[in-house]
Amino acid sequence: MQFRDLKKQYEALKPEIDKAIADVIASNAFVMGPVIKDMEQQFAEYVGMKHCIACNSGTDALLIPLKVWNIGRGDAVFVPSFTFFASAEVIAMQGATPVFVDVDAETFNMDPVDLHRKIEQTLKAGKRQPKAIIAVDLFGLPADFKAIRAIADRYGLKLLEDGAQGFGGAMNGKKACGFGDMSATSFFPAKPVGCYGDGGAIFTDNDEWAQLSESIHVHGKGSDRYDNVRIGMNSRLDSIQAAILTVKLKAFKDYELNDINHIAQRYTELLSDVVKTPVVPDGFYSSWAQYTLQLNDAGQRAPLQEALKALDIPTAVYYPIPMHRQTAFSYLNPDDNRCPVADRLSQTVISLPIHPYLSETDQDLICKKVRKLL
Ligand SMILES: *Cc1c(COP(=O)(O)O)cnc(C)c1O
Repeated sequence: MQFRDLKKQYEALKPEIDKAIADVIASNAFVMGPVIKDMEQQFAEYVGMKHCIACNSGTDALLIPLKVWNIGRGDAVFVPSFTFFASAEVIAMQGATPVFVDVDAETFNMDPVDLHRKIEQTLKAGKRQPKAIIAVDLFGLPADFKAIRAIADRYGLKLLEDGAQGFGGAMNGKKACGFGDMSATSFFPAKPVGCYGDGGAIFTDNDEWAQLSESIHVHGKGSDRYDNVRIGMNSRLDSIQAAILTVKLKAFKDYELNDINHIAQRYTELLSDVVKTPVVPDGFYSSWAQYTLQLNDAGQRAPLQEALKALDIPTAVYYPIPMHRQTAFSYLNPDDNRCPVADRLSQTVISLPIHPYLSETDQDLICKKVRKLL
């Protein structure tokens, strides 16, 4: 059994994907060109943002907005501790200081109460200037953008949505990757919409920031490619990846997102009486990048994982080390970065196989074994 079965997806979409790849090769336009423009337009439209700038990875899609906003030395950026490393890495790459915010024990997402506390604490210390918030849509569920937006506005902070896992999610009918002043997503193969390599995209309604992102992602280009008006980078998306993404977005819209929600709902029905299943608050919709259980105590996890592995049922732990405990961030003051909920979750969470092509037979087997082992 696969944790996220990309092979089954390929089997379902093979004729379209093969044709999309062959067309790019025949066109000889491997970098930039009409395929990229078309893909950007489709993704912007889906998300409901004016601009989409395709780039080389989700990490770059987070880094470029920080460059656009000139965030650097002396600045504080608030980010949840319970996330993938890249959410916080980009802050340090810019020379700014990450301040880790604890998460809500029900949703796994940034806790607005702790966000408020950490901003006040940073202002009081007076060493660094609060500049931005990076809110993560963990496991496919949008963060609490109503509360976070209010805090961002109150303190005059920029809001960057890390929608690397959130693409397809929604809150009160508004789609994920549409909540930030700028938003980022990732097209890494295992994400809700993945390509066949690395890829990502930036979304924004702001014309000036879109134009700056466009420039930064191609060596700081000005009026043309050999007129360089600022220091940038090479973060273009390959045309082959864009063509694949166009096919995958259609399947995602037509049935995949619906199917994965059906599967998640079924997991919850079959397991919620024996283990803590994920919570989707009223008005929220998840794209289920992961289906993550919370065990009662840390000691249960390793034996459960091992027993399931022996039955050919793969599981994963996202994430075993919260950001405030990462070696790379050991230079930060632990007193400024306390996150007790993230500490507990990193010990007790376990994710089950989930993808739009998971059969009910496989799912029944997984649930039967998990129930028995717990
Ligand atoms: C995957 C991921 C990223 C980074 O995306 P890449 O495309 O792998 O660079 C950033 N943030 C979160 C929350 C992610 O899950």
